Amino acid sequence: MSNFYHQTILSVHHWTDTLFSFTATRDPGFRFLNGQFAMIGLQVDGRPLLRAYSLASANYEETLEFFSIKVPNGPLTSRLQHMKVGDELLVGRKATGTLITGDLLPGKRLYLLATGTGLAPFLSIIKDPEVYDLYEKVVLVHGCRTVKELAYMDWITKELPKNPFFGEQAAEKLLYYPTVTREPFHHQGRITDLTRSGKLFDDLGLPVLDPENDRVMLCGSPDMLEDFRVILAELHMSEASHTVQGHFAIEKAFVER
Ligand SMILES: Cc1cc2nc3c(=O)[nH]c(=O)nc-3n(C[C@H](O)[C@H](O)[C@H](O)COP(=O)(O)OP(=O)(O)OC[C@H]3O[C@@H](n4cnc5c(N)ncnc54)[C@H](O)[C@@H]3O)c2cc1C
Repeated sequence: MSNFYHQTILSVHHWTDTLFSFTATRDPGFRFLNGQFAMIGLQVDGRPLLRAYSLASANYEETLEFFSIKVPNGPLTSRLQHMKVGDELLVGRKATGTLITGDLLPGKRLYLLATGTGLAPFLSIIKDPEVYDLYEKVVLVHGCRTVKELAYMDWITKELPKNPFFGEQAAEKLLYYPTVTREPFHHQGRITDLTRSGKLFDDLGLPVLDPENDRVMLCGSPDMLEDFRVILAELHMSEASHTVQGHFAIEKAFVER
């Protein structure tokens, strides 16, 4: 048995010069938890070229969705960005990852903090009806440089609340906070600064983070994650693992090579 499912590209959407999304067929045998990632890629010169990718689709959906960067001269993404409908995509058989709601201690509010393509796993989580049963509020914060990079903004604000199964719950419980660092917008600044200053919580009308009620999932650049480790340690919040539940869970949106 091959280590990969051979799937077919169904659609490709280019958000900007540096960001795109695509959907692909899903093998019925491919199982994952919302928030997990898998290895995906292409055959290049007869060999698989693979990278870790978060699943942006929910685990009950029939097709797979991914949200991707285009790295100039990046071995995979310089090819992947040219994919067309009908092309083949390799999908590793095993999904894994740390952004699992079951690994977190029970709480009232779930914060999903993302920069750039770190949004991807949270797209899957905000489509999970269970998350709205588990929490009173689900706060999705997406930080980018420019407004155009706030991919999925229309879908989050306009389409998700229309979901026939959990749209009403999402409309009531999901708070979406997009913020940019390099141009004027109604929310501006880095997520770390907005958290430290308390502006994020003032704007949302919520109390500042506290270990008793708040749970946090983070997916972003290595710098953002390191800064948040310090912030969360100061609040005496502990990191979750598959064996010990904690207050927060972290996944790298990418690794520096
Ligand atoms: C757990 C995990 C999940 C991931 N999920 C995604 C995802 O959902 N979408 C996605 O686009 N990438 C994701 N990545 C990154 C992905 O694995 C690749 O690095 C990326 O697709 C670029 O591949 P490449 O071969 O073109 O360049 P690479 O050689 O892999 O990367 C070259 C350089 O580009 C930069 N870079 C890579 N990925 C990103 C990124 N996403 N955002 C900003 N800078 C980046 C880094 O500086 C890196 O050193 C994930 C990585 C990890 C570890």
